Amino acid sequence: NDSNFDVPAHPDDYDWSRHYPAFFSRDAPEGTGSQQQEPEDPSETGTPSAQQQQAAVRFADVGCGFGGLLVKLAPLYPDTLMLGMELRDKVSEYVRERILALRDQHSPQYSNIACLRTNAQKHLVNYFRKGQLTKLFFLFPDPHFKAGTHRRRIISRAQLADYAYLLAPGGMLYTITDVPELGKWMREKSDAHPLFQRMSDEELATDPAACLLDKATEEGQKVARNSGLTMRSVYRRLESPVSL
Ligand code: SAM
Repeated sequence: NDSNFDVPAHPDDYDWSRHYPAFFSRDAPEGTGSQQQEPEDPSETGTPSAQQQQAAVRFADVGCGFGGLLVKLAPLYPDTLMLGMELRDKVSEYVRERILALRDQHSPQYSNIACLRTNAQKHLVNYFRKGQLTKLFFLFPDPHFKAGTHRRRIISRAQLADYAYLLAPGGMLYTITDVPELGKWMREKSDAHPLFQRMSDEELATDPAACLLDKATEEGQKVARNSGLTMRSVYRRLESPVSL
């Protein structure tokens, strides 16, 4: 039930300090992110407050499940704020507790990851400003097999317009699935979008995030245990549209 979600009317209304206290406290120690973020272009995004300029979520994992990707990415990009977005209440609660335990055991690591419960399909634009994100992940999304439920798929023409809006030029959109029909669908839709360009395997070989897609998450590990095949499609958000 969406009415239970604490969905902000506008990204500026959301208090991120409760998710990333180390990045927002006045005496955040060196290396916990107070000065690492690239400045925004205020003409594009409104006028972000000084605090927003300092720290803002750059990576979003949509349907993060049990949080395996965030946990692997956290030490690779220690100065980047990352957010898992998960629809299931119990699962998002589990991820929050997992992260708190990791922070306790490995302080100051893992202060850059957090998870919130939300319907990311509906509310992504309520949380992030235009061009704010540099990586957007869709790992093993629910397939919605039946033709009648295809419109609920997380990659669609309409959703891709939102993803293009939220991603900075040069930002990356990552997808992977073990469902061949969905893999084909996600590739077709994204290939057809003028603001996304598919990356080759050679280009992705040097991208640490791309190399994590198949085995970092709980779903990926399950597929790997069953020797299932996966299809990975990764796109760069272009500066301006290409004609197809
Ligand atoms: N990405 C994780 C992984 O690879 O282990 C989880 C994959 S699981 C098959 C799909 C996840 O997406 C589920 O945890 C589900 O609750 C979540 N999900 C489905 N629709 C969603 C939505 N609209 N917003 C946020 N999460 C959603």
